Amino acid sequence: MIQTIRKILIKYSEVNLEAFITNFRRMKQISMIGILVSMFHIIYFLFFVITETKEESIWRIGIITSHSVLVILFTFTYYAITFLTKTNKATLLRMKIIQYFYIFIIMAIGAMIVTLDQLVTTNITPFLVISTFIALAFLLQPLASVPIYLVAYFIFYFSIAFIQNDPLVLASNRVNGLTAAFIGIALSNILWQYYTRDFFQRVLIEQQNTELILQKKKLEETNEQLIHLVAYDGLTGLFNRREFERIVNKTLLEMKRYKSNACIIIVDIDHFKYINDQYGHPVGDKLLKAFSFILKDELRDIDIIARWGGEEFIIMLHNTPAQDGVHVAERIRYSIENNKFLIDGHEIGITASFGISELLYYEIDWLITAYQKADKALYMAKNNGRNQCVFEPD
Ligand code: GH3
Ligand code: MG
Ligand code: MG
Repeated sequence: MIQTIRKILIKYSEVNLEAFITNFRRMKQISMIGILVSMFHIIYFLFFVITETKEESIWRIGIITSHSVLVILFTFTYYAITFLTKTNKATLLRMKIIQYFYIFIIMAIGAMIVTLDQLVTTNITPFLVISTFIALAFLLQPLASVPIYLVAYFIFYFSIAFIQNDPLVLASNRVNGLTAAFIGIALSNILWQYYTRDFFQRVLIEQQNTELILQKKKLEETNEQLIHLVAYDGLTGLFNRREFERIVNKTLLEMKRYKSNACIIIVDIDHFKYINDQYGHPVGDKLLKAFSFILKDELRDIDIIARWGGEEFIIMLHNTPAQDGVHVAERIRYSIENNKFLIDGHEIGITASFGISELLYYEIDWLITAYQKADKALYMAKNNGRNQCVFEPD
């Protein structure tokens, strides 16, 4: 229960904050236009309104004074808002004070103008105009709009009596003024309801958007993991057989265009079964990993290394003549032979055998052909005593 109330309060404080910010921005625009409108009144009453009686002249001076006060208010507000926004000092409290002060002064001056108008006319149009204007221009929650209109109405109610002596006109104006205040309250509430509904819908859409983005991110991550699983070997992190075939087939086009050949090297660790038998399968696994690091170390980034299966690896050397391929294989062989693999406290020495062949772009079934030749070479390397590199035999 308390939790729910707190949630509602937080929600409403967000609505209010946004409303204050919106009003703050609008006040700047209103002030700019307000300065022009009031200046027009002042100039018009100064130069074009000719008065004859004493009442008329009080009315004229009163209107000029009221609009002069409005010009001061508008100018002050305009610069205050500009200053506070630029210096980042527009706190909620300051925005609240300025807004309510602004509305109150406009309402009070409206009531004053209506009162002065009673010197020359019986109508109360300015009060109706200002009531409607405040409702249209400001986003006001009912908790604020009701007191604002009531206070304005009471000022109007009493001030109008100072000038309007005709009891029937006074009664009519007071009733009309009340109607104007209620129109203001009703209009203000309707607009507030529209605004809050729109606000909560926007919040909901934002929440849904955030959720969608999160889900999308998760999906992308899962996708990446799947792509990784499909393309890489889980133990060594090298490409798997499938991916190797895919990449090599893709490079065929390039090789055809540049009429270049490449080398294939098949590497098979010698007597790996004994390693497993002697140290256990987990040590064998770690050894395979360490072995793959050596392959990566010895080769260029552009070379493609994959785990063909078990303790057998395959390498493709781009744009490499057969002779260079044999040299590379020999270098790796030497490095493995001279490396001491330190695994789980065991110092293990191993050797590997290499079968090398040329990958010819113009050959039909080029990869299969090259693989068969390299496999045959590997077989020979094994038969000849292991720990050696053999280039495709005749
Ligand atoms: P050689 O190639 O020199 O003829 O002898 P070998 O003992 O290496 O040959 P073989 O192909 O008969 O044996 C390969 C061994 O590699 C058998 C298998 O237990 C082991 N092996 C294959 N895959 C894995 C693996 O993922 N982890 C471990 N620990 N061992 C593996
Ligand atoms: Mg082997
Ligand atoms: Mg093998």
